Amino acid sequence: MLELANEQIAMGQVAVDKASALRLLADRLVADGLVAEGYLDGLQAREAQGSTFLGQGIAIPHGTPQTRDLVFATGVRLLQFPDGVDWGDGQIVYLAIGIAARSDEHLRLLQLLTRALGETDLAEALRRASSADALLKLLQGAPRELELDAQLISLNLPADDFDELAWRGARLLQRAGCVDSGFAALLQQAEPLPLGEGLWWLHSEREVLQPGLAFVTPQQPLRHRDQPLNGLFCLASLGAAHQALLERLCQVLIEGRGQTLYQATSSRDVLQVLGGEVPADWPSVRVMLANPHGLHARPAKVLAQLAKGFDGEIRIRVTDSGQAGVSVKSLSRLLSLGARRGQELELIAEPSIAADALPVLLAAIEQGLGEDVEPLPSTPELAPQPVPETLQAPLPGTQVQGVGAAPGIASGPAHVRVEREIDYPLRGESCAQERARLRAALAAVNDELQALVQRSDKAIAEIFVTHQEMLADPALTDEVDQRLTQGESAAAAWMTVIEAAASQQEALRDALLAERAADLRDVGRRVLAQLCGVTEQAEPQQPYVLVMAEVGPSDVARLDPQRVAGIVTAHGGATAHSAIVARALGIPAVVGAGAAILLLEPGTALLLDGQRGKVSVAPPADELQRALAERDQREQRLQAAWSQRHAPAVTRDGHALEVFANIGDSSGIDKVVEQGAEGVGLLRTELIFMAHPQVPDVATQEAEYRRVLDGLQGRPLVVRTLDVGGDKPLPYWPIAAEDNPFLGVRGVRLTLQRPQVMEDQLRALLQAADDRPLRIMFPMVGQMHEWRAAKAMVERLRQDIPVADLQVGIMIEVPSAALLAPQLAREVDFFSIGTNDLTQYTLAIDRGHSSLSAQADGLHPAVLQLIDMTVRAAHAEGKWVGVCGELAADPQAVSVLLGLAVDELSVSPRSIAEVKALVRQADYSTACALAREALQQDSAEAVRALVERY
Ligand code: PEP
Ligand code: MG
Repeated sequence: MLELANEQIAMGQVAVDKASALRLLADRLVADGLVAEGYLDGLQAREAQGSTFLGQGIAIPHGTPQTRDLVFATGVRLLQFPDGVDWGDGQIVYLAIGIAARSDEHLRLLQLLTRALGETDLAEALRRASSADALLKLLQGAPRELELDAQLISLNLPADDFDELAWRGARLLQRAGCVDSGFAALLQQAEPLPLGEGLWWLHSEREVLQPGLAFVTPQQPLRHRDQPLNGLFCLASLGAAHQALLERLCQVLIEGRGQTLYQATSSRDVLQVLGGEVPADWPSVRVMLANPHGLHARPAKVLAQLAKGFDGEIRIRVTDSGQAGVSVKSLSRLLSLGARRGQELELIAEPSIAADALPVLLAAIEQGLGEDVEPLPSTPELAPQPVPETLQAPLPGTQVQGVGAAPGIASGPAHVRVEREIDYPLRGESCAQERARLRAALAAVNDELQALVQRSDKAIAEIFVTHQEMLADPALTDEVDQRLTQGESAAAAWMTVIEAAASQQEALRDALLAERAADLRDVGRRVLAQLCGVTEQAEPQQPYVLVMAEVGPSDVARLDPQRVAGIVTAHGGATAHSAIVARALGIPAVVGAGAAILLLEPGTALLLDGQRGKVSVAPPADELQRALAERDQREQRLQAAWSQRHAPAVTRDGHALEVFANIGDSSGIDKVVEQGAEGVGLLRTELIFMAHPQVPDVATQEAEYRRVLDGLQGRPLVVRTLDVGGDKPLPYWPIAAEDNPFLGVRGVRLTLQRPQVMEDQLRALLQAADDRPLRIMFPMVGQMHEWRAAKAMVERLRQDIPVADLQVGIMIEVPSAALLAPQLAREVDFFSIGTNDLTQYTLAIDRGHSSLSAQADGLHPAVLQLIDMTVRAAHAEGKWVGVCGELAADPQAVSVLLGLAVDELSVSPRSIAEVKALVRQADYSTACALAREALQQDSAEAVRALVERY
């Protein structure tokens, strides 16, 4: 992944011509180990094919496919030439960005740069920049484009006064992700500006994440400060992004056309007047992009040139991106699409030129825009494979083997929740009829949700209340209504609007917004089912076993543990986050049971063993009885374990092991101690960061850490520094999207790039410690230098904030760290093995992968070997080792980990009593023998079978 950073920049370079500039760049790339000698030929050859000048004084020299093999590592180096270098055709370059990349990674860089390319005076500013920092700010800090689309417009709102209208505008901005929650209050304090014709303007620059403009109108005529109030613009202002729009608005007002805005009956009309989006009836064509490296600078340039030959507006968008179209004539806008091979593009042209322009552009794209293109594979090859028809539901009396994800035995009728395709007509009977049908469906779904609200716990009820709000959201219903007037059926209009809104949320690549997208689809589907008369299978009255393809964390969060006795999924693995949540809720679960399980008849009796990962289909009465007896015994065992939860975990032959708790914040810390924890072995601090709308400051963090230490009353606290990035970004941290987030900038790699955040967190921790036992560890360490950089920061801060009982260590989650354990052990105070990630990286299986993660079993001998190496290395240096991944609470794994001489197990608080009891029942010498044998096995299944035999 190409990112821009200070150390890649060399300021004040001099080159007499382009050839010497290229030579300087090539030398730099070679010296930094990114490419081999000879890459210069590639840079020159590429320039000979076409200049890499981008505009705004920037060029992006890179190699050709022939020199790709000379690239050792993906990266960029930036050279500033204050005197300028002639790049041909009189184009002067002040900044050359040399790229070493094997494939199309530079598209991402282009996307980053296009923000800067939109700026008017950037070339001059780049020339004058006096430091690498300043230069970087110019490239990254250019204002973002103003958001203005249908979701930011809401007409005819039932508002009583100006304040209420302003509040509605602020809410639209907040929902679109433009502003934080404090924005609404700030807007109320801003001074309103009358624009004339009853239109008003309010703006604030604070709490703004992304510039955006909302427009709201009241249902009935209102007055404000003795003037009419027909409509209100609310601007979330950031830089000068709104300038162009403001000019258009002024023009509209000068021409006396204000009523076209406040009398508009649809958001599209407003957008048309303000030029935010193209009208729906403009002709369009779609085409698949086949260029091997996507729409990069060269083909984009060809396309823009071609489009400039037509006198009128032409837009382009990536159809599945949920983004509005951009002008085809703007090279920077084209690059900002980041379009890749295999994506579908839509070209939209104004009617007067559409017939001429669209066929020409379409043909040019099909022919590769000057590049050789290989045809794309036909669609069926790309489409997800349907469930093979030969699949059959498991027969009564059979057992299905899955992966035990949450221990416990459960039985009950199967409640199979599978999303089936619902067909619906695209065109409606009449607008009035479709409106009435939609109204009835919305009302019925609202009642359904109300019933769910009433019978659910508070946290779950809140989710359904949010769904009710979505049903009533005028931003959605306005849009749907507009489509109904164009003749669409209620179902088609509803689903199009829901899908567009959901994709828009997802496109922002933010975990919270992605959840909102899931909620939108959930609501969307309920309404569709109502409209089409499809009754979703009713939940059984008695506690049931939920059967689903996959259960996302948000699905689990809304489960009612009183009604769901157990969970079986077709896909997924034991360390998927949903399995972790199931365990926390104490619902027995088997995951990865295979797609055939979804074919079970609803109501089929199921018996599941969440420990062994077995599902029995319509089990014979005696088997059921045995299992239920076992469940009762387990209950008794757990009760006995519970009564001994404060006793230490010492084996029968006197070997002691500590049992600690995994927690996410300070809430419930007293309960954790009450559950028998001898300390906290993993405080996942990212949950604290996620609970705040912005990075919590030192004082806030210190208070939180203090609460945990207070609650522990002298017991040790092991804190993991912030572990975000990759697939779990923080909503307020813009982290570049990555192709392989699990292999990307996450954990310590990310915090080392944001030293201030890391320093603040460490400072808060050290300040909170007083003389209590504090252990700090860094996640995802894979290299010695990462550990040393992190440790150095702690040491520096320690000079100012002395802590009497501090240990500093790392998590072992990456195989390289386990393999490097002998060297690391000399420097760290302890290791804590994160088996969830260690298993994922050792077996090369994404821990949440829908079908493979079932095989990501931490008892795999390959993982056990790494644990063994880690423990030996640590003990050789007199250091201790904990295990804090989910494996530590797996009853079959406890004796193996004990036998591998692990010193501490850190588990979810619910499992503490059970794990302690398991240790107390074990013999250390037997466990050691078991562990040695386990290391010799050839699969996780074999290890599990071995454990059962012992
Ligand atoms: C692990 O990877 O095992 C771990 C404990 O960290 P997390 O599950 O939070 O990634
Ligand atoms: Mg981890």
